[in-house]
Amino acid sequence: MNKREIADVLNEIATLLELKGENPFKIRAYSNGARKLETLEEDLDTLIEEGTLGDVPGFGKALVEKIETLAKTGSLEFYEKLKASVDPGIVSMLEIPGLGAKKIKSLHEILGVSSIEELQEACEANRVAELKGFGKKSQDKIAEGIKNREAYGKRHLWWNARAVAEPILEGLQALPEVERASHAGSFRRKREHVGDLDFIVASSNPGPVMDWFVAQDNIREVTAKGDTKASVRFESGLQADLRVVPSEQFSFALHHFTGSKDHNVLLRQRALSRGYSLSEWGLKSVDAESFEESSLKADSEEDIFKHLDLQFVPPELREGLGELEAAESDGFPELLEVSDLKGTFHNHTTSSDGRASLEEMTEAAQARGWEYWGVADHSKASFQANGLDEERLLEQIERIEELNASKRLSTHVFSGNECDILPDGSLDIDESILMKLDYVVASIHSSFSQSEEEMSARIIRAIENPATTMLGHLTGRLLLRREPYSVDTHKIVDAAIANDVIIELNANPYRLDMDWRFWRKAAEKGLATSINPDAHAPEHFDFVEAGVNVARKGWLTAENVVNTLSLPEVVEVLARKRPHLKG
Ligand SMILES: [Zn+2]
Ligand SMILES: [Zn+2]
Repeated sequence: MNKREIADVLNEIATLLELKGENPFKIRAYSNGARKLETLEEDLDTLIEEGTLGDVPGFGKALVEKIETLAKTGSLEFYEKLKASVDPGIVSMLEIPGLGAKKIKSLHEILGVSSIEELQEACEANRVAELKGFGKKSQDKIAEGIKNREAYGKRHLWWNARAVAEPILEGLQALPEVERASHAGSFRRKREHVGDLDFIVASSNPGPVMDWFVAQDNIREVTAKGDTKASVRFESGLQADLRVVPSEQFSFALHHFTGSKDHNVLLRQRALSRGYSLSEWGLKSVDAESFEESSLKADSEEDIFKHLDLQFVPPELREGLGELEAAESDGFPELLEVSDLKGTFHNHTTSSDGRASLEEMTEAAQARGWEYWGVADHSKASFQANGLDEERLLEQIERIEELNASKRLSTHVFSGNECDILPDGSLDIDESILMKLDYVVASIHSSFSQSEEEMSARIIRAIENPATTMLGHLTGRLLLRREPYSVDTHKIVDAAIANDVIIELNANPYRLDMDWRFWRKAAEKGLATSINPDAHAPEHFDFVEAGVNVARKGWLTAENVVNTLSLPEVVEVLARKRPHLKG
């Protein structure tokens, strides 16, 4: 454990002791110890090695023992036992903003509340207001805190978090005191959703940077502000943390706080095996006397990897999933970029539930410089989405042919359909009509509660249908809103490869489906994808960026993605199932 992690444990010990009503001097020894540790100038590992930790004023013998044990082993029996001795319902009340251990203790002792739910009930019954030392005002504050906690606990889609993150980064970079600035954390790794935002800044004058950070618009609460660290909570509930470091530490802090934890553990192990210790402060020789003397320089994250004989690992791949092995050789993939895309499939128009006409969508695709795009409106089983029957579908094919023939717009339009996979696995539209289209996206929009076995068999039957070009949103999940239906992904990947069917990467920020965790293996086996925005309006074409983010997390390159192909190349691919396209 590092200094900060140990300080967190000491603070938690102090809180737990307070919940138990222990001697205040004992409690203060731990909270003071945590603060001392956080502000300790010397390197903790060095002090432990030299056996001089006890010389630091304020560190008693008992505390030194505990810090050393935590630093060496990462755990502490005293702490584990203490944790186990306090009711978790009471501990959870600490999550309510503004409610400290002391107050929780009296609420528990006098009112008998042992959980957040019971406390909420006590507030509603006006029992907290009647309590000595509380009153109506603090009861209202607690009730509000309970409500906020729910919003605070929420995770945020990467797509929504970006709207908050980008202006912060731009603002930081514009400050004269800021030498360098970056976001970090899971947001930088492009995770599909994030818990909070992290920013790292290099500056020799942190004061004005901190002042600017806590004075931004739309801040609901400044949760912490120190000399070099600050945390704020925005109205949306999203929290943002800022750390300001000296310029020479910037690359190390950026790497450390970008994570992931798993990646950092593996990289630290690699450093250790080469005689170095890697931390947020630097990379130094394990045998060195002092930190300053032996710390290696890194002007960029590239330099850190170089010191450890590795290629630069893109942040998206830092998940501890084999990236260091790849970075050891020259076989690191050149990941997909938004600019690689030359068109897209799976989009809707006003013919079903889209908000823009065929012409408007084509103009938007042309404005992006796309060579082609595809219309895949819903089929008739999706009646709530105004799905097309055979007759309307034939009319739409004609209109698309007319638009292409008119040469009014340079972007070619493919005629497709997002055809419902019915509960038995058959497709919603007659095969003879489906074969007149350029392609078919087969998707599930009903009977989500089928068993995994039924659902997998249903999808595989659709994959085996000769009319199917690609599979839409594999699991039907809506991130942070709706769980995926159960399906055997491995079986479906194999069936898709065997039947020359593409599995889309649905780029709607709520879907990002098939999940990035499956793509590396699937692509190695030969599965192709298409980054599909599932656009229902021209501005939804932007979603391809969210799709590219997770495609990168899945190690995908342009070669794995059909909509990086040029128009003639894509026609070749589609013609494998529809020979008329080559005519
Ligand atoms: Zn759909
Ligand atoms: Zn759709």
